[in-house]
Amino acid sequence: MNDVLSNSQKSYQAYRYRLAGMVEYKEAYKPCYKVFTILHNQSIGPSEGVEDNSIFLIGIEVTLYYMQLFSLLLIIMTRMMSPVSSEGSLKIGVIYFSPIDVKLKKDLLYNIGITYRCNVDEIEGLRTLPTEAYFKARNRYRAPIILEYLKTIHGYDKIIGVTSNDISTTSRGVYDWGVLGLGYCPGKSCVISTYRMKTSNKALFKERFIKIALHELGHTMGIPHCAKDLKCFMSDAEGTVRSVDREEMSLCSSCKKILNKD
Ligand SMILES: [Zn+2]
Ligand SMILES: [Zn+2]
Repeated sequence: MNDVLSNSQKSYQAYRYRLAGMVEYKEAYKPCYKVFTILHNQSIGPSEGVEDNSIFLIGIEVTLYYMQLFSLLLIIMTRMMSPVSSEGSLKIGVIYFSPIDVKLKKDLLYNIGITYRCNVDEIEGLRTLPTEAYFKARNRYRAPIILEYLKTIHGYDKIIGVTSNDISTTSRGVYDWGVLGLGYCPGKSCVISTYRMKTSNKALFKERFIKIALHELGHTMGIPHCAKDLKCFMSDAEGTVRSVDREEMSLCSSCKKILNKD
């Protein structure tokens, strides 16, 4: 009988040490352990009732162990399954000035969310580009004026505008230089245009669309053009999609450092 009890106590101790490695179980259940020991020692005697109590206590402990294990698993699973877009407090809004394919819009939201670990929403409803941004001589819209307009939209930390109209800015000594996108660096707003992204290859169009959007948003986060890695989407596109096509959908390590500095 003593041998049986001693084995039982040993296995109980081993069980407790396993628990101790988790959520400081040892300290939390010390009183319960004492009661169990007393009852177990008493069970050496002929009393069947006491033996029953000790078995009952083992049942409680095992139940508590599994409840804790279950809670721990639940916490881990909730963290793993929660959408990335809800991890950060930064709030980005996407606003459309032209109709865009629904699937493409979803892909854009997803990629912004995972790249910048932020909350990102589409601002419902098609907007009209500000008339004062129209540059009649070239049938284009001046991107800096669009940025000023986007800046006035409340409720978001960053706003990205999307249009299919051609947009331009003053660059490289040229007053009206056509661009794929423009963004403050750093600042609240940026805009992209699908006008110069055009291709019959849908997959390629999607890549260009997302990389350019991530690029302009990167500027709003304070990331300048990247000269470290030609594959980084913060490389200078120099107004051509060919440069965008050699980029990957990720930031290089130097740009990630700038992003995570804040
Ligand atoms: Zn740029
Ligand atoms: Zn980079």
